[in-house]
Amino acid sequence: MKKIYVVVTMDVEPLTGDTHPTATGPETWEQSEKFIRGYAEQAGKYGYPVSYFIHPEVAVAQAALFEELNQEGHCVDCLHLHPWKFRDGKYKAHFGELSENDMRAALGESIAMWQSGFGRRPLYFRPGTFSANDMMYKVLVDMGFRGGSCSMPGRVWPRMKAIWTGAEPDPHRPHASFRLAVGDLEFGNMPNSADFSSWAVAKGSNFQMVEGETHSHDNNTVACHRDLRPDWRDNDYHAVANNIVEQLIERNPSIPVLTENTHNDNDHADPEDRVSKNFRTMLKEITDACKSRGIEPVGATMADICDMVLAEPVKMPPFVYT
Ligand SMILES: [Zn+2]
Repeated sequence: MKKIYVVVTMDVEPLTGDTHPTATGPETWEQSEKFIRGYAEQAGKYGYPVSYFIHPEVAVAQAALFEELNQEGHCVDCLHLHPWKFRDGKYKAHFGELSENDMRAALGESIAMWQSGFGRRPLYFRPGTFSANDMMYKVLVDMGFRGGSCSMPGRVWPRMKAIWTGAEPDPHRPHASFRLAVGDLEFGNMPNSADFSSWAVAKGSNFQMVEGETHSHDNNTVACHRDLRPDWRDNDYHAVANNIVEQLIERNPSIPVLTENTHNDNDHADPEDRVSKNFRTMLKEITDACKSRGIEPVGATMADICDMVLAEPVKMPPFVYT
């Protein structure tokens, strides 16, 4: 393996005052802009562009900021959606529990709002909390998306309807009927990177670790593999980065990617911010993990990875009888 693509991402959430006090997101637009710029600046020290998945309300409020970031080489053509956070609160649901009709309606309304901010339509998608069902990819293709980062292999979070046990770990075209599998849809999906040698179980989204557990046994816990997200409270980024790179070398995918995600709710301009410190450690560790093995880490965007997936021939495995 000569190179690994590094795709830094952020889910850009609307203000918590408009959604829920315990939801992810910033308190003010000024904070949001500071966090977004700080994140790009840290990633930029390693030459990695950022791919921003943007909630519709943010596209309206901060389009000028993202157009500027777009000019600097970041990828901003991505829609992020938590249906329950959207507009008037009509959808009391996480993305994976929407009916097909509501999925089409919520996406249509979101695309329209996003488009009213940017003057063009989003091309890539990520559901909030990686919440998804088997209709998602087909609906996304129908609605004009060419790709996305829609899966977190290994995540088991029943309450959020985010179950990804056994999901394909590397960039691929998804299956039209079964979200975990490789298929032939005209859509480039980039899964979140995972260290498959590890498990962690936490209470909800604030990462309060449950010691000694290896699986999610009730609705209030989330189980997942360790990964590169900077939000962890107790992650060994050196070990996780090296494990993920070793596993990539072993799987040897045609498009090797290291990717992670976070939200616009931590101050990446503050050297003392807990999550920003983790982010800087993670960037160094993934870079070192590649270079120490003679592998070049190459900054890439969601759009770059999607282009690579769609340029490849369809790799849907043939039917096997038993
Ligand atoms: Zn989100």
